[in-house]
Amino acid sequence: MEILSRMRRTAAVLGLCAALVAVPAAAAAEPAAPKTPRTPGIPVVTTEQVMPHLRALQSIADRTGGNRAHGTKGFQQSLAYVKGVLDKAGFRTGLRPFTHNGVVGHNLIADWPGGDPDHVVLVGAHLDSVEAGPGMNDNGSGSAAVLATAVAMSRAGVAPKRHLRFAWWGAEEQGLIGSKDYVRKLSAAGREKIDVYLNFDMTGSRNVQQWLVVHDDPRATDAFEAYFAAKGLPTFDIGIGGSDHESFGDAGIPVSGFNTGVGDCLHDACDRIDNVDPETETLSTNAILGVTWQLATR
Ligand code: ZN
Repeated sequence: MEILSRMRRTAAVLGLCAALVAVPAAAAAEPAAPKTPRTPGIPVVTTEQVMPHLRALQSIADRTGGNRAHGTKGFQQSLAYVKGVLDKAGFRTGLRPFTHNGVVGHNLIADWPGGDPDHVVLVGAHLDSVEAGPGMNDNGSGSAAVLATAVAMSRAGVAPKRHLRFAWWGAEEQGLIGSKDYVRKLSAAGREKIDVYLNFDMTGSRNVQQWLVVHDDPRATDAFEAYFAAKGLPTFDIGIGGSDHESFGDAGIPVSGFNTGVGDCLHDACDRIDNVDPETETLSTNAILGVTWQLATR
C-alpha cells in the first residue's frame, strides 16, 4: 500500500494520470454500443453541446504554440474561454492565483447561486496540458465535459439542495499544484463543507474498454456504478491517486469521479482533437451531469 501510494505520488509529480497507475488487470469485453442516456427530469447533452468546447481548446493550442501548459498563453486563453462561457451561463466565477516555478498560475472556480453553502458538491477537471502537445484527451476532454455539465445545469435552471461548485485546476501536470493550493487555502471549516469532490481527467479516450471509477465516497461511487450499469457499460474500480482528486483525498475530503483510460497519445503531440472519441466524450459528459444532478438535488 505504501509502495503503491508512493508510486502514485511519483506518477502524479511526473504528471501522469490516474489510469496509468491503475491499469485494469484484464481487458474487458467490448462495451455495448453507447446509447444516449435518458433519465426523467435530468437534462441530457448532445455531442454538439460538448465538442465545440474541445474544438475551442484545440484552436487555442494551434494559435499559441501547440500546447496549453502552465505559464503559457495557451493556458491563459483556455482559462479565459472557460470563464467566458460560465459567465454567460450565469455562474459566479473567480480566478484563484498561485505561483509555481516562478510563474503565476490560476484555478478557475464557478459557483451556481443557491443551495446550502454548508453542503457543497464540487466538480472539477485540470485545464492545463503538458508542453509536448495540446492535451485534448488529457485533459481538454474532462474540462469540456465539466463545462458542458455546468452549462446544461444552468439551461435547466437547476435549483440544487446542496451548493454546486465547479473548478478547473491549473498546473496539474506539474504535480497537482493548483488543486493542492486550493485545498491548502481552505479553512478546516471550509474543508468540512465540501461533501464530495468529483474529478474528471480523460473522459473521451478512443477504444474505451471500461469506465474507471474512483471508489471512495460511497454515495457518489454507487451513483456512477449504477449509471454505467444502467447503460450496459463496463466499469472497473480504481483507488485515489494520479490526478487532482488526490489533493482532496489527502485532506480527508470524500472523492469520486472516473476516467476512460490512457491511449498512445498521452502527453504527446498527437493528443489532438482526433484523439478524442466524440461518442465516449458525450457519454461521459452525460454520466457527470446525471450523477452531479442526483447528488446536488437530492
Ligand atoms: Zn490529466
